[in-house]
Amino acid sequence: MRGWGAAITLMWASTCLAGQVQVENVRTWPAPDHTRVVFDIDRPVDHTLFMLKNPGRVVLDLRAADLAAKLPEPETNDRLLKRLRAGSRKDGVLRVVLDLKADVRPKSFQLKPNSQYGHRLVIDLQAADDPARAASSSPRNKAPARMRDIIVAVDPGHGGEDPGAIGRRRTKEKDVVLAIAKRLKARVDREPGMRAVLTRDGDYFLGLRRRMQIARRHGADLFVSVHADAFSDPRVHGSSVYILSRNGASSEAARWLAEQENASDLIGGVSLDDKDELLASVLLDLSQTATISASTEVARSVLQQLRSVGKTHKKNVERAGFMVLKSPDIPSILVEADFISNPQVERRLKSSSHQTALADAVVRGVREYFKRNAPPNTLFATREHVITRGDTLSAIAVRYGTSVAALRSANRINGSDIREGEVLRIPYASGS
Ligand SMILES: [Zn+2]
Repeated sequence: MRGWGAAITLMWASTCLAGQVQVENVRTWPAPDHTRVVFDIDRPVDHTLFMLKNPGRVVLDLRAADLAAKLPEPETNDRLLKRLRAGSRKDGVLRVVLDLKADVRPKSFQLKPNSQYGHRLVIDLQAADDPARAASSSPRNKAPARMRDIIVAVDPGHGGEDPGAIGRRRTKEKDVVLAIAKRLKARVDREPGMRAVLTRDGDYFLGLRRRMQIARRHGADLFVSVHADAFSDPRVHGSSVYILSRNGASSEAARWLAEQENASDLIGGVSLDDKDELLASVLLDLSQTATISASTEVARSVLQQLRSVGKTHKKNVERAGFMVLKSPDIPSILVEADFISNPQVERRLKSSSHQTALADAVVRGVREYFKRNAPPNTLFATREHVITRGDTLSAIAVRYGTSVAALRSANRINGSDIREGEVLRIPYASGS
């Protein structure tokens, strides 16, 4: 009899396994404006999502599902998610409750397997208040008075659930490009008259449109997206700089690459905002021509500097339909910092000295570009004056129609000490 009992139990267990969806792992990705909760499942699952108030929580019901994993504790820096709880109902429904710290707009969608993960159910909790919007209402400028900093938006590709390309030693593009981007930001911030903002500064996913929005909210003068390339042939290496093309890609490889990078957006799921896409694309076309010519110039300048760091993949700036470069009003470039699929390059991309060298090259290219194309009222929109015997700050100010204060701030001078032979930057008066 005991044998029978065991057999029956076993049979029940196996039909149960075949019938029930298994939740194999759960992870959270906190970002400044949203938290993503990802459920690894062994196949697609029927589910419903609804919200309850007092206290605020999101309830997720998974039909015919079992929890075969421990629920994670939310990260300490998570400003939206307080706790995860789960329980199985008699009808086979697995209920997961997401206790909240703040108001959210939740959405859910499922993802197909990729190179790193299998089937996934994703819950995005979008903050009802937007920290990026709040931040942009109080812009901080290093330069006082009417001078402003040139803002460079630095955009590390991919992140969170989207690893980007993966090297042979399992180095992920999302990690390498974040490290390079952080160095690039630090480098830009050291440049007088320039300041950088990162579109993401942690390991979380951002949609391509969202990246552009962040740049626009900060009033960016330039958008630099940082990626690392991958190819099936491990010998291929060299950095590239891309700009947006409206009329097809400059090569088959460029088209292929743009498809790979744009696919990153699918990880964002479908949202109602996408309805505006057609209208947006029409508006984009109207104002993009001037931006593309500016992008071409900055891309050339950066590509030239990258030659000092290593081989470049192609001699010229390449073009393709990269979604993330579609800002109508911000010159935008995409830097593919060499091929992570090349094992030697993969090792180099992880080294801090190489990351710094790449960041330095990009900054030099950007600086050269802004020297030739200075936005008004920035430190770059200045003339130079070589100090001769008898010059005083006030005399120079009068001569160039500016003020002593403006001269001091443009040249970081405190008193009125100037030396013969020294070169002063003369800011153009605001509005001229
Ligand atoms: Zn990429």
